[in-house]
Amino acid sequence: MLYHSLKNKKDLVSFEEAVLNGLSPDGDLYVPQYIPKLESFFLKKEIFNQDIYSIAMEVISCYIGKSIPKKYIYNIVNQTLKIPFPLKMLHEKVYSLELFHGPTLAFKDIGVKFMSECLDFFSKKIGKIITILVATSGDTGAAVARGFYKKLGIEVIILYPRNNISNLQKKQITTLGSNILALEIDGNFDDCQNIVKKSFLDKEIKKKYILTSANSINIARWLPQMLYYFFAYKKIKEKEDNNMDLIFSVPSGNFGNICAGMMAEKMGLPIKFFIASTNINDTIPRFLSSNKFIPMCTKKTISNAMDISNPSNFPRIWNFLYKKDFYQLKKKLYSYKFTDEQTLSSIDMVWKKYKYILDPHGAIGYSGIIHHFKKNDRILYNSIFLETAHPIKFKEIMPFHIQKNINIPKKLEKFLELKGKIKNISLNNNFYQFKNWLLEKK
Ligand SMILES: *Cc1c(COP(=O)(O)O)cnc(C)c1O
Repeated sequence: MLYHSLKNKKDLVSFEEAVLNGLSPDGDLYVPQYIPKLESFFLKKEIFNQDIYSIAMEVISCYIGKSIPKKYIYNIVNQTLKIPFPLKMLHEKVYSLELFHGPTLAFKDIGVKFMSECLDFFSKKIGKIITILVATSGDTGAAVARGFYKKLGIEVIILYPRNNISNLQKKQITTLGSNILALEIDGNFDDCQNIVKKSFLDKEIKKKYILTSANSINIARWLPQMLYYFFAYKKIKEKEDNNMDLIFSVPSGNFGNICAGMMAEKMGLPIKFFIASTNINDTIPRFLSSNKFIPMCTKKTISNAMDISNPSNFPRIWNFLYKKDFYQLKKKLYSYKFTDEQTLSSIDMVWKKYKYILDPHGAIGYSGIIHHFKKNDRILYNSIFLETAHPIKFKEIMPFHIQKNINIPKKLEKFLELKGKIKNISLNNNFYQFKNWLLEKK
């Protein structure tokens, strides 16, 4: 499989180059040259007899091609799938796909793990240090810091916004040290993202560093996110012995997760449609009702991993998967926004009725399903929402009667023990200041 940028279909690169470049030389997103179609025999039959490792190989190895030998791909997949993906029924036809069982209790652990194993392979192969430059609204940074910590041959630089990050997230990013460098930027997530984007286009920076991004724009993070849509499909078909259609509601920020699901659908996975559920940063819900793409200022919410107004993966859905065909896209994608008040009221209602504790992101995913079927008195399809973070991470904003019922996972104790000093560097929201720092750094 080869990759090209959205704008320029002529310059083709391998999986390895696309991963190492992050963005294409013209500053654009990479997409695969074509979307491999899975055989219906695999989707209707084989998938039910295979284990998750074989399913993952079937889905992902064609995207890697010759960049990594098969047996190493199998290793990478194996390491990644150590994270479990339980599917829990909340009530009739509504399921939570729990993606928060990785080391930082958020779904980004999955893509990051896959990517860090790929880069480990590449840095050994080329025998050079690879520098990862990443902007974060909180969870990415934590997952990247953990996922790459002490990986030989990899240096990580994380940019995070000064005022829009929780204390726990800040600790996770700043206390590790070693090959993890934390930079606090006086701005919001989009400002951090802009600095990262400019760096990838800067000739002087690229001369000094083998620079890659670990944001969800990197194909090595984006593509493995397809896997759990396949696993969930398999599980639900095994549970529900019927032909009822399946839909997914995905709490969306940068739209990487949902874009991976939509790719899985294009590969043949039978999904009736998707719901992109957002907080009040609602560029996409407004786009789908007006066909006008107008990002506004980013607003702070309690689902802070989704405080994003210009979703960086959306062009992959719009330009690549749907070729700017608004009407085709509208058949497969619905999108609704929810306020903090609505989010908290879903958390409260679901706890009272079903004794299940949602985190604010999962609560928005769940709300998407309920909102969509509000006109009907029942849910019409098997409906899965992605529960992307463990509720313990948002304990402070939960009502007290829920707080005391959250099970504290063992892994969390590890973060809370993070006693190390906060080691960060503070910079203005200014690309040139960042660039000077980077070029002068040893
Ligand atoms: C990043 C994140 C999201 C949004 O995922 P995207 O792929 O950026 O749309 C949702 N929930 C949590 C907890 C996250 O960390």
